[in-house]
Amino acid sequence: MSSIDKDGMLIDPKITHKRFQSIEHGTLKDIHAIVVHQTDAPTARHTFNGYRTGGNGAHFLIDKTGGIYQTASMAKRCYHVGRLIKSKCLEINKDNCQTPEMVKILAMTWGSRIKALNAHERAKSYPDRYPVNSDSIGIELVGKHIDDKTYEVVTPLQLLSLQWLLDELYHHFSLSSDDVYKHPEVSYKNPGEASTVKWK
Ligand SMILES: [Zn+2]
Repeated sequence: MSSIDKDGMLIDPKITHKRFQSIEHGTLKDIHAIVVHQTDAPTARHTFNGYRTGGNGAHFLIDKTGGIYQTASMAKRCYHVGRLIKSKCLEINKDNCQTPEMVKILAMTWGSRIKALNAHERAKSYPDRYPVNSDSIGIELVGKHIDDKTYEVVTPLQLLSLQWLLDELYHHFSLSSDDVYKHPEVSYKNPGEASTVKWK
């Protein structure tokens, strides 16, 4: 079993530490969920080069051969979810979220609606809403986007490493497979991102 050091780094021979403080943005106090991504880049190196200049990023990266890198401290927040989250209630439990406020929001035009939905959702706490940057860990799998609906298929070695990493994180943060999300579930993204990822 791995351990976590005082800097929020996961200690295990399977993990290479390659921390980019440039993608860390303040403290991550609570970890309630995990969001799985694909990088839209052909190699890990492309993503690391992007991380050097800062901005968006995630805590872990798994390359195509299954190599696991920790790229940010789990004590720090990364920008990986995006600015606007979807409504979990609308996506999975539509019949039970027809509050007067929701009816008002759904009558808005698309642009206003997704902003109002985001604000409405952020007032809830997890798991009533989808995870946000301030309560989740991001895991990137190397893989290029192909078209509007498709990303490269993840490799069997990536899936093996992802499952190992998830099992470690479930243990350390008392999470379960229900707390793992594909990025496009949570926010408005290419639906192909992470679509071929499976976990338990
Ligand atoms: Zn993503």
